[in-house]
Amino acid sequence: MKTWGGPCPNCKSDNTEINYLEYDLPEIGRILIVSFLCHNCLLRYSDIFPESIKLKDYRITIESIDDIRNKRIYKIPEFEIKLEEVGIEIKQISKSKFMVYTVDGFIMEIIDFLKEYSKNIEDKREEINEKIKYLEEVLKGKRRLTISIKKSIS
Ligand SMILES: [Zn+2]
Repeated sequence: MKTWGGPCPNCKSDNTEINYLEYDLPEIGRILIVSFLCHNCLLRYSDIFPESIKLKDYRITIESIDDIRNKRIYKIPEFEIKLEEVGIEIKQISKSKFMVYTVDGFIMEIIDFLKEYSKNIEDKREEINEKIKYLEEVLKGKRRLTISIKKSIS
């Protein structure tokens, strides 16, 4: 696997450190977290790579503030995420990045996207606003949301 190494891309210092961390996520499989730290300018970043994804089909239900705090959502290349109650589907192409989200981080990203999207669409604005309203209530623990993550059929 190709990853970072050598001098810092920011300050060119060689005083850098790379760490690999393997995690077993019960619902997903094994992932590898690679993090980079420059001791000179303190630049840091990290990336996540799926190692062995055993996941085929996975569904979580958000019903309470506890669910929002404790559950995680995974964006996996070539998987699609469906928000069932609001009828939103997000497809990940094979070049997508693997990402781990908190529930509120994930939902807020979708709300931001919908708000941006509705600016350009005249006729569906009402419908989109309904979805936004629903998702905002999910964030307050007032509504239920089912999120399914499934391997895309292509
Ligand atoms: Zn540096």
